[in-house]
This record gives sequence, structure tokens and C-alpha cells, in this order.
Amino acid sequence: MNLILLGPPGCGKGTQATYIVEKYDYVQLSTGDMLREAIKNNTPTGKIVKNVLASGKLVDNELIIQIMKEKIEETATSPGRIFDGFPRTLAQAESLNALLSQNNLSINLLIELVVDQEELFERITKRASESDSVRDDDNADVLRKRLDVYNKETRPIIAFYEKDFFVNKIDGMQDISTVNKLIDKLIENNTKH
Ligand code: ADP
Repeated sequence: MNLILLGPPGCGKGTQATYIVEKYDYVQLSTGDMLREAIKNNTPTGKIVKNVLASGKLVDNELIIQIMKEKIEETATSPGRIFDGFPRTLAQAESLNALLSQNNLSINLLIELVVDQEELFERITKRASESDSVRDDDNADVLRKRLDVYNKETRPIIAFYEKDFFVNKIDGMQDISTVNKLIDKLIENNTKH
């Protein structure tokens, strides 16, 4: 099972991915988590991407695609992968198609968490002010930038996928457990033989 979760920053992709991983024993391939881990460990990649993440811009396609290539190969025997935060550009979406087919894999399920961006903005800025978030991209200015980047660079990949696939839309403003249940239903329908 290769499942792609789509939606803007803060729409709940990470929360839902964690839930699916626990329930179905899939692996979560979150480029955001991978990059933050690299920054924390001060690896060569971490040094390159630190300022990019803090600014809300996107990391270079080549770097992200290389990281993903390794992860797909490493997880070759997993019963499923959840792509969370990748692809984020058309070039990444095209590379993912190629990487999957090179590994005899394909996309099985696409889910877009649809949210009201203004409400989302409130939700995240509130979360940032209440928690002692260690994420330095969790402030209002950077969030605006990330939403902008999403609308310009990432949103077009939905239309790209819709040419070949059905993109399932879920209202991401509903509570977490309602969204969990809707995702469950889609996974179950998709894995039925
Ligand atoms: P969120 O889940 O809040 O949307 P992520 O954790 O996925 O955010 O990503 C945080 C940051 O990491 C992004 O703003 C971007 O700078 C970088 N990043 C993550 N994934 C990618 C990607 N696929 N391509 C380019 N940059 C990425």
C-alpha cells in the first residue's frame, strides 16, 4: 500500500500518518521529520537545510528526491508507506512515479485533507503560542510563507494526480477521530481483495 497524504501545512497530515502507522504497521515517510532529524543531528544535510526550513521555503528538489529514493529502497519489504509532506512540487511528484515504478510499486491511495486556510492559520498560531514548540518554523510570518508556498508550488500536484487517479477528499476541519475513521474506511476498501 502506497498512500499519499496531501494538504497544506498544519492540516493534520502528520497526526493522521502517526495513527495509520500504529494501526496498520505501515511506515511513515515524512520528509519534514527526516529534515528536522538531520538538523538535530547536525549532519551535512542538516547544515544545508536548517535555514531553508526556518524561512518556510522548500528544500531543493534534488536533495529531497535523493533522500526519498533511499527511503523507498530501505522500506522495500514494508506492507505500506505513507507519504507525508512529499511530494511537494510537480518535479517531486514526477520523480515519485519513477521511483515507485523502478521498485515495482505504485500509488494505491491518494487522500487530500481539505481545510479552511484562515481557520488553519488561527489554529497553528494558537498551537505555537501555547506550546514550547521546538519548531522554529511555527510562527505566524513563516506560516504565511509556508501557506503561500503550498498554494503556489504544492497545490498544483492535486490536479496533476487527478489526471490519472481519484483523489479522495476529506474535510480536515472535522475532529481527529472522525478524520481517522474516514481514512480507515478508505484504506480498508482499498486493501480488500
Ligand atoms: P508540515 O507538516 O507542517 O506541513 P513539514 O514538516 O512537512 O511541514 O515540512 C517542514 C519544512 O520542511 C517545509 O516547510 C520545507 O522547508 C521542508 N520540506 C519538507 N518536505 C519537503 C519537500 N518534500 N520538499 C521540499 N521541502 C520540504
